[in-house]
Amino acid sequence: MDGEVECPFCGEPGEVAADYDPDASGAQVFVQDCAVCCNPWSVTVQVGADGEVSVRVDRG
Ligand SMILES: [Zn+2]
Repeated sequence: MDGEVECPFCGEPGEVAADYDPDASGAQVFVQDCAVCCNPWSVTVQVGADGEVSVRVDRG
C-alpha cells in the first residue's frame, strides 16, 4: 500500500509501506523507520468494516 504521511519527528513527508491485511478489520500496527531522520514510526493502519483504510503515524 502507499500512504502519504508526515514524520512525527522531523516533519518531512514520507511514505508508509505497511504490509497490512486488507481483509482484517481493526487496527494493525507496524514499526517503520523514517527515511529522512531514521527515527522509528509507530504506524497504525485502521481497516474499517466497510473496507476503508486510514493510516496514522505516531512516535514509536
Ligand atoms: Zn523523520
